[in-house]
Amino acid sequence: MSKPKVSKPKVAFYWCASCGGCEEAVVDLAEDILTVADAVDIVFWPVALDFKKKDIEAMQDASIAVSFINGAIRTSEQEEMVNLLRKKSGLVVAFGSCAHLGGIPGLANFSDKAGIFERAYKLAPTVTNPDGIYPQTETQVPEGSLTLPVFYDTVKTVDQTIDVDYYLPGCAPPPDLILNAVTGILEGKLPGKGAVLAPDKSLCDTCPLAEYKPEKISIKDIKRPHEVVHDPEQCFLAEGIICLGPATRSGCGERCIKAGMPCRGCFGPTRDVKDMGTKVLTSIASLIGIETEEEMSEEELQKVLAKIVDPGGLFFMYSLPSSVLRRRRIK
Ligand code: SF4
Ligand code: SF4
Repeated sequence: MSKPKVSKPKVAFYWCASCGGCEEAVVDLAEDILTVADAVDIVFWPVALDFKKKDIEAMQDASIAVSFINGAIRTSEQEEMVNLLRKKSGLVVAFGSCAHLGGIPGLANFSDKAGIFERAYKLAPTVTNPDGIYPQTETQVPEGSLTLPVFYDTVKTVDQTIDVDYYLPGCAPPPDLILNAVTGILEGKLPGKGAVLAPDKSLCDTCPLAEYKPEKISIKDIKRPHEVVHDPEQCFLAEGIICLGPATRSGCGERCIKAGMPCRGCFGPTRDVKDMGTKVLTSIASLIGIETEEEMSEEELQKVLAKIVDPGGLFFMYSLPSSVLRRRRIK
């Protein structure tokens, strides 16, 4: 007699404005992906499996146990798909920095649609477009009408678009956190709604260089990572290299630090930090020129500050759409 078929929880994966790294992170579960695949029924994963939107539309509301959505919301298509997945899912997890905070695609909020189209379709050195032809949402061809999604002026996080239950931080989230999240969901052992599924400590608390971090840091000069040979027994900030570790949540395994690079904040802020960009900016500014033998003149201070190339891009590298700034003012 054949065993009765046990229905497994249905799981969906979807990507919006992202680089594909979050999809790689799922594959990086290595042999654990077989455990996950055995425990759940994957009903949607466009990057890996051939499911269609109509398959999801045909499902009952809330019949998907959890949808993992990575990437920020940039187009009308992404907006439509996350709304559909929200309706069909019990839980939605914003997966990775772009879904959580806006991420690298969110830096486009320093520009707008017109600026981005001009750069991508006209000014880029590899583009020849003398007639200034830009993508249109609707184009008539002899066979009928071709459509493209609307490209918005502003990149949004997933929770600025739909209700989100949990956040898995990181660019990309590391496999151990993904596995913990999936196991927690399957076993019904989850923290309160809205939780970020990573430790609520700062990266400095777990950083292998923390033992070299002086009690009081005085920054006399600012250097970019490629301008100095980093001392592996020195905290980056103490070397004058900007590190966002003090305002960033830990849980990544200190990947950048171990690879000789300062933290750029992809895990987002800890719970008590309201806005990580402004938090790091103000704390770095307060460390410049303190406790030097001779007080730095205004001119010397300005010279040091001028060495922070692209402060917006640096301090808000992963968090611009979710920050207090959110975007550049559109005229
Ligand atoms: S500032 Fe950066 S390098 Fe220094 S302890 Fe914190 S995370 Fe580590
Ligand atoms: S060190 Fe910072 S930027 Fe690098 S993976 Fe960890 S949280 Fe992200």
